[in-house]
Amino acid sequence: PGALEKAMGAVTGKPARERTVHAVNGVSLAIARGEVVGLVGESGCGKSTLGRVVAGLHGASSGELLYQGQDVAGLSGRARRDYVLGVQMVFQDPQASLNPRQRLRQILAEPLAVHRLAPAAQLDARVDAALAEVGLSAEYRQRLPHQISGGQRQRIGIARALMVAPEFLVCDEPVAALDVSIQAQVINLFMELRAQRQLTYLFISHDLGVVRHISDRVAIMYLGKIVEIAPTAQVFAHPQHPYTQALLAEVPDVTRRKRVFTPIQGEIPSPLNPPPGCTFHPRCPHAMERCKREEPQLREIAPGHHAACHLLDE
Ligand code: SF4
Ligand code: MG
Repeated sequence: PGALEKAMGAVTGKPARERTVHAVNGVSLAIARGEVVGLVGESGCGKSTLGRVVAGLHGASSGELLYQGQDVAGLSGRARRDYVLGVQMVFQDPQASLNPRQRLRQILAEPLAVHRLAPAAQLDARVDAALAEVGLSAEYRQRLPHQISGGQRQRIGIARALMVAPEFLVCDEPVAALDVSIQAQVINLFMELRAQRQLTYLFISHDLGVVRHISDRVAIMYLGKIVEIAPTAQVFAHPQHPYTQALLAEVPDVTRRKRVFTPIQGEIPSPLNPPPGCTFHPRCPHAMERCKREEPQLREIAPGHHAACHLLDE
């Protein structure tokens, strides 16, 4: 059974003037318990919005969010609490998501206190255990967020999300703000935690290289739609969508010091006024007449491998 399923008509983004912007539209995604799905696309493609909808931080104007087979909108009481605690979010910028005036002890103890998950007498022991789990000693308890490094702050962001014993983490660009050497350490921590706690992740990144080692499947998003989704090895070995192929061409060599994401040729069109037909056609090297009129639908081209491109009909 899917740990989480999402089938949305439209997720409403910030309103611009009188119009409704559909940051995400017609996305359907099912994530199995224990699975890691990488969600990749350029900034502004709607991947953060999708992540926030899954984590319950952002409403959808239509569509359904199912958690453990149940529609989240209809949950109440115990079942609602299971979803609220069960799905947690790790943010890109731990600096912004941690209260600068709170000591790490308080930051980590707060979710336990708020949700009445541990008596006061147990909080210190629980905080120490959480620190140890993310590789920090108990001495860090008394520090303030600005007194630790960026990588340590993200470890605290992860520890805080884990305090309520979630099953599912939505990780939104959790290593994008970190140095490359630190990125690898934090990704390793995510992989260890997954193994130890049998966690499920939706792992959002603009960088295919980041999701490669952690994801079982990768979904590629462009202008609010998933254009390709497949097992990770398949995406790297046999990418089918021209956008995926272009993204792969941008994945830097591991020997390069810095990961720089150079956008694919052409501007990303405004989601306010998406191009007709295939929204990628103005940037696609293979665009045909048909692509300007007709929107390609996601279809299965190999077992578990879906892509939306008219070339696949030829
Ligand atoms: Fe390119 Fe056409 Fe395929 Fe869109 S449908 S990705 S424009 S070939
Ligand atoms: Mg984002």
